[in-house]
Amino acid sequence: MRLHRAAWVLPISAPPILDGAVAVEGDRIADVGPFADLRGRCPGHVTDHGDAVLLPGLVNAHTHLEWSFLRGSIGPRHDFVGWVREITARKLATPLEEVAAAAGRAVEEVVATGTVAVGEVLNNATFYTETSVERLSTRGIRGIGFLELLGFGGAEATEILQAGWKALEMIREQGGGSRPHGNDRLGGPSLAFHLSPHAPYSVSPALFRLIRAQTERRTVHLAENEAEVRFLASGDGPWRDLLQELGRWDPSWSPPGVSPVRYLDALGFLDSRTLAVHVVHVDDADIAILRRRRTPVCLCPRSNARLSVGRAPARRLFDAGLTVALGTDSLASNEDLDMFAEMRALRDQNPDLSPEEVVRAATLNGARALGLERDLGSLAPGKSARFIGVKVKGVDDPYEGLLDENPMVFYPHDSH
Ligand SMILES: [Zn+2]
Repeated sequence: MRLHRAAWVLPISAPPILDGAVAVEGDRIADVGPFADLRGRCPGHVTDHGDAVLLPGLVNAHTHLEWSFLRGSIGPRHDFVGWVREITARKLATPLEEVAAAAGRAVEEVVATGTVAVGEVLNNATFYTETSVERLSTRGIRGIGFLELLGFGGAEATEILQAGWKALEMIREQGGGSRPHGNDRLGGPSLAFHLSPHAPYSVSPALFRLIRAQTERRTVHLAENEAEVRFLASGDGPWRDLLQELGRWDPSWSPPGVSPVRYLDALGFLDSRTLAVHVVHVDDADIAILRRRRTPVCLCPRSNARLSVGRAPARRLFDAGLTVALGTDSLASNEDLDMFAEMRALRDQNPDLSPEEVVRAATLNGARALGLERDLGSLAPGKSARFIGVKVKGVDDPYEGLLDENPMVFYPHDSH
């Protein structure tokens, strides 16, 4: 047994503990409480971390490590569809080794900034098996790899899904996700893989239905941009132009004339195992649907700001009782993968959120959104001992203290 003592312990699922401690046995948390109590209950070696807050490792519920080669090279944009065109062209022109090396550096950044689990969206299974899976696993990162499917032609839906299953098979054969959610050793294999649709403007209704019927868990980019709202309302605009240009337009599709959330709900797609990412363009009726379906959402405040797509109504989403998680999105629309910076941005954009709500989004809500709450998201007996610490000096509100600039992050109980 080892005891980690600090000025503050933030279990998240319980109030903050002044002069608290976390007792660890092996790779699991054995107990959490005031140091004075734990010292008697859990005899063992004590490490005193002093002026620090101990909290669960952070969960980045939406990112794309595969796009990390674009770090620092794409400036703020006001044209979402133009941005998609640009990054797609850049990817085709970048050698795989460069893409892989950048993803490797990104994983190191994820670890250094206190993130222990990711909702990672991947497009290229070959690339993934050769690089990120192994790197994420060896660095002890948990999470889900969502292999993203695109295809607007309804007739191709079955074929696209089958290709997706084949790609997942390949990832599994090469060791990725061989023990989904079963990481009993720090640093063991740690990612589960699932198929996911990209977005309402790039996936046919038939493919949405097939994915919903055949997968246990999934994510989707939803209500992210104005062009998407327009496309579903009227069937025209830049997404229609792009589909036609790529030869992917399906003339049998007719615009539903409703919001993105209503559209996917009408397809029977939304449920508690579908993580809806962005949810910028949602009204109260949309939020009521997400609530009724118990659909978790992931906000990406810095990505939305950089692409000028608008701002998600964070206060209203929290007030509706949704599970609101947080993600950085990719380095094609963000300057870094630091979840502390993402929390500060969420708070700055939404001064009506409490620091506690912001920290909860990046911990327990993220774990719930990815189905990882059995192991992660809070400090409680039986959960993973891969929690983090942040150095602070004499703070009265530990949640607030975590939102200061330049946090010094460390892993109290970890060999990584
Ligand atoms: Zn994304």
